[in-house]
Amino acid sequence: MEFLSVCDESLRRAAAVISGGGLVAFPTETVYGLGGDAFNPAALAKIFEAKGRPRFDPLIVHIAALETLEKMADLSTLADDGREKLAVMSRRLWPGPLTLILPKLKAVPDLATSGLATVAVRFPDHPVAQRLISLSTGAIAAPSANPFGYLSPTRAEHVRDQLGANVDIILDGGPCSVGVESTVLDICGAQPRILRPGGTPKEAIEALIGPVLSDGEIPGGSPVSPGQLKSHYAPRTPLLVYATEDIIALPGEKGEAFLFVDGASRETWLAAQQGNVAEAETNRITVRVLSETGDLLEAAARLFEMLHELDRPAISRIRAQLAPEQGLGAAINDRLRRASCAAR
Ligand code: AMP
Ligand code: MG
Repeated sequence: MEFLSVCDESLRRAAAVISGGGLVAFPTETVYGLGGDAFNPAALAKIFEAKGRPRFDPLIVHIAALETLEKMADLSTLADDGREKLAVMSRRLWPGPLTLILPKLKAVPDLATSGLATVAVRFPDHPVAQRLISLSTGAIAAPSANPFGYLSPTRAEHVRDQLGANVDIILDGGPCSVGVESTVLDICGAQPRILRPGGTPKEAIEALIGPVLSDGEIPGGSPVSPGQLKSHYAPRTPLLVYATEDIIALPGEKGEAFLFVDGASRETWLAAQQGNVAEAETNRITVRVLSETGDLLEAAARLFEMLHELDRPAISRIRAQLAPEQGLGAAINDRLRRASCAAR
């Protein structure tokens, strides 16, 4: 494995690795991806091997030009208003943290889509991702660059520590600005529905195309998207989630970590404990805040990084505050709840 900082030369070498069927970990605005040529089944198989990802969990194909959609998606089978919605969203929300589920063309290997008749496509808003895609094959299939089920990487070092041996090149482009995965939106059916909340808030989508269903509202509720697996995105350390009124009343124990969404909640908790951060630390309680001002963009961007930091043997349990259920709060809470399912 080579760990390279981004420059023209390293981008060109990484693109050659992709074109030759190898794997490159690269930065996007959401999290680091583990990329291979989307049209090369052997490269796709390597992605599943490297991650220990089950074959039933399909990959997202990343593009860097709208024209590439025509090589992958059969837009003729979308209803008229589906095509209109696609046109509006691709114009207004791409490049960005939004993955669209579209009817697939035969040219896309079954391995990329786990045999589904649909393909997941995203146009990432990151110059390194875009250049890597256009310098190589124009379409890179990439799941998050972490072992299956574990926390997603928001820094190149996270990838090196978790997957290093299984990747040909890791491109270091610094920390990811959004920090949670893309929103996955299925527009094949009569009504668009969110299969996974993520970096594009539901509100932003609804402002453009009207009401969308979210996974809680799917009739029958069976997991149509494996990202809906209850336990996912999990640290090894047990994690428990709490509403604000519950966590602020909770006494801390030695070895525990408290993760607050905003600084005001931490202050209320400290006041209830009649202590301060220094005292908590002497009692071996770790106290962290995602955003001092409660800014949900900042909180999302720091979520996985914070969980990586707290996921160490000295910490017995992570107690995490849930965010307000709006904007990026929905994605933050989704990841925290899934992480907490692993603890049960
Ligand atoms: P990751 O690449 O780890 O961010 O996960 C990709 C997410 O996209 C997973 O939750 C997949 O289940 C979902 N996904 C990919 N392709 C499809 C598809 N054709 N239909 C539904 N969900 C998909
Ligand atoms: Mg993932």
